[in-house]
Amino acid sequence: MDESSCSAGKSYLTEDEAEPPGSAASALSSSSPSLCTTVATPTAAAPPKQTGKLRMKIGHQAEAFRRRFFPNAGVEQWCDWRWQLRHRLRTVDALSRVIALSADERAALFNPDRTLPFAITPYYASLISPHDPGQAIRRCMVPVIAETIVSPGEEEDPLHEEAQSPAPGLVHRYPDRVLFLATDFCAAYCRYCTRSRLVGGYDGGRAAAQRRRWEAAIGYIEATPQVRDVLISGGDPLTMADDQLEWLLQRLRRIPHVEVLRLGTKAPMVLPQRITAGLCRLLRRYHPLWMSIHATHPDELTPECEEACNRLADAGIPLGSQTVLLAGVNDDVSTMRRLVCGLMRLRVRPYYLYQCDTINGSRHFRTAVQKGLEIIQGLRGHVSGYAVPSFIIDAPGGGGKIQLLPNNAVNRENGEWLLRNYEGKIFRYPDRV
Ligand code: SF4
Repeated sequence: MDESSCSAGKSYLTEDEAEPPGSAASALSSSSPSLCTTVATPTAAAPPKQTGKLRMKIGHQAEAFRRRFFPNAGVEQWCDWRWQLRHRLRTVDALSRVIALSADERAALFNPDRTLPFAITPYYASLISPHDPGQAIRRCMVPVIAETIVSPGEEEDPLHEEAQSPAPGLVHRYPDRVLFLATDFCAAYCRYCTRSRLVGGYDGGRAAAQRRRWEAAIGYIEATPQVRDVLISGGDPLTMADDQLEWLLQRLRRIPHVEVLRLGTKAPMVLPQRITAGLCRLLRRYHPLWMSIHATHPDELTPECEEACNRLADAGIPLGSQTVLLAGVNDDVSTMRRLVCGLMRLRVRPYYLYQCDTINGSRHFRTAVQKGLEIIQGLRGHVSGYAVPSFIIDAPGGGGKIQLLPNNAVNRENGEWLLRNYEGKIFRYPDRV
């Protein structure tokens, strides 16, 4: 669905979060002037005053971008996640003011066949190269015509989540855990999204529908005692207001057999301002609560991202990362090594490296499976074992996650195993007989 239907995003904001009359809803609407009213040529503006209310860091790159393209926004506004959401770049005009669009990107943005919505937070846009269409973050965010081409083997729902859904917005694939799709809204839309069939379909009547959906999903979990682990994802659940998120966490925490709650989010990468002190206080009330952070490229590991991860880790939340292997974005050992080592510094344990799912229009992002194995081989032994993610293919057809490993057990002969070490040397281990 096209996110242009996101015309009444106000329900993502609580009353007290709303801007002066009309502005919250209108800023999120497709007819919002968005960047058009705030873009200006570079100015020699005086450094903005920082007040005691300001909490989140602002890195040099983002600060230069803010001054150039949002000179009317103070640092406090820039560091407010709700301001970031309201000022997302969502139109060709808005985007073309900050980057020089290629002919391919321009054609894709105008193409009516494009199904995945388009939006980028100003903060994340500040990380995009204005001149290089091949830059990693730009490729993940800016549409190209290739995403409208469906190749053999691709499907709208390759993981067959709909077939394993006992209630709308709930996927029950593995025995002891469920995936709770709490929202279809994201701060920024990745061009390779597995749930591109679902995300961004917001409309004005959705708040009530969402609550009804949640109640049905919670009812299923309450009635299913083998569910001990609930992964709340979407969309991005951290785009929801604190009160909505707390309502959901509270309801799930009340279910006696639910032991662990997990949140899947890309907020620390695309909207680090969302990780407020208040959010951390809220989350720590619902431990044991884990978080999976969607990380794609080392360029995402900015001072803002670092601060967001530090806050979450300091709130006692175990952090893991999930990364999709993407051709021309992160499909080489050196990029992946910078990413996993950077995540470790941020106290995020690299958890999964996913082969890109076979969603419609994903061929240009998919690598050969062998590439993922080479990357794991190139990490193992060269970085700490904690920093080596599991390489996973989520089996098309709903088979679930399958781990792939480089084959280092070369052979067994004369009671000995021949094993290959990280340098490619062969060693013998006398096996017990
Ligand atoms: S943040 Fe996740 S759910 Fe949202 S568009 Fe990206 S991959 Fe999809």
